[in-house]
Amino acid sequence: MNKRAYNFNAGPAALPLEVLQRAQAEFVDYKETGMSIMEMSHRGAVYESVHHEAQSRLLNLFGSPSGYKVLFLQGGASTQFAMIPLNFLSEGKAAGYVRTGSWADKALKEAKLVGEAFVAASSESEGFRKVPDLRNLELPEQTAYVHLTSNETIEGTSFLNYPDTGSVPLIADMSSDILSRPFDLESFGMVYAGAQKNLGPSGVTVVIAREELLEQSPKHLPTILRYDTHYKNDSLYNTPPSFSIYMVNEVLKWIEEQGGLTGIEQLNRKKAGLLYEAIDQSEGFYNGFAQPDSRSLMNVTFRLGTEELEKKFVKESEAAGFVGLKGHRSVGGLRASIYNAVPYDAIAALVQFMEDFRNKNR
Ligand SMILES: *Cc1c(COP(=O)(O)O)cnc(C)c1O
Repeated sequence: MNKRAYNFNAGPAALPLEVLQRAQAEFVDYKETGMSIMEMSHRGAVYESVHHEAQSRLLNLFGSPSGYKVLFLQGGASTQFAMIPLNFLSEGKAAGYVRTGSWADKALKEAKLVGEAFVAASSESEGFRKVPDLRNLELPEQTAYVHLTSNETIEGTSFLNYPDTGSVPLIADMSSDILSRPFDLESFGMVYAGAQKNLGPSGVTVVIAREELLEQSPKHLPTILRYDTHYKNDSLYNTPPSFSIYMVNEVLKWIEEQGGLTGIEQLNRKKAGLLYEAIDQSEGFYNGFAQPDSRSLMNVTFRLGTEELEKKFVKESEAAGFVGLKGHRSVGGLRASIYNAVPYDAIAALVQFMEDFRNKNR
């Protein structure tokens, strides 16, 4: 077998090796049909069973709460930034957005193009190094929904708990931490995620929402941008990204094999713990960007003393076989994305590299 890279890419990101190998084994001939899954009609029984299996596996992982529906859409999480206000933000109402960093701001910007949006809470004054406290969220009566970003991929922060918004639907962009740990789906009206971080390859966006939110969209909306179109047609209104959905189904099987969300969380805590410990015990050589109470289990962000040293770190890490450690251009520094599929051994190797680098450069 070829050597696997130590892949810390932020997205598209590492996939489980077992999943890639299984997909490879049935790539040309899916279950003795003489065809690849990519070559089949999305209206045929073979593809449709994959489609439905992926939907029910997802809900099962969340304990199968009743009244929720899984949609498979396209256009990435970015298209959801627009679809959410288009479908849920009507005249006379206002949408509350929690500002936690780069992705939250992109979602807010789209909502403002559509209707009225306000900042429900923000951690801008703390430089987005932590998430705001949402325990005493005050919402005006005409609040259409509250939107938050469960994990800020660029800053490396995430929420420990989610607020209770009562009858106001809570909507979360979970693109970079969905299925990384258990959470109560029933506190949310809708959660969504582009697949390319924790769910599979790019090309499909997963939406899980309460059916009552999906049943009816405003009359004036174009057909393809309406949640009710996709709801009523079971995400088969137009051709779905069938291969990506097939891959998501395989990733979901793999998560089940890791012990579901509880098993995955244990692995993720162990992985993130190892890396944060290396940062915290470096005597200030490495500095974590996120405050300890808001640290992400998926995107570990840190800085070195100077930008010059950071450049050197990136260069030498690449030469040593580590991929994707440069921080996002908007914030700089370093970032290790350690999604579900990144193996513990890759992180142990990174920690060893960090120790060696520190000994040579302090
Ligand atoms: C990557 C990412 C997005 C953007 O996803 P696309 O599928 O590229 O549109 C949005 N939100 C978060 C939190 C992300 O990590």
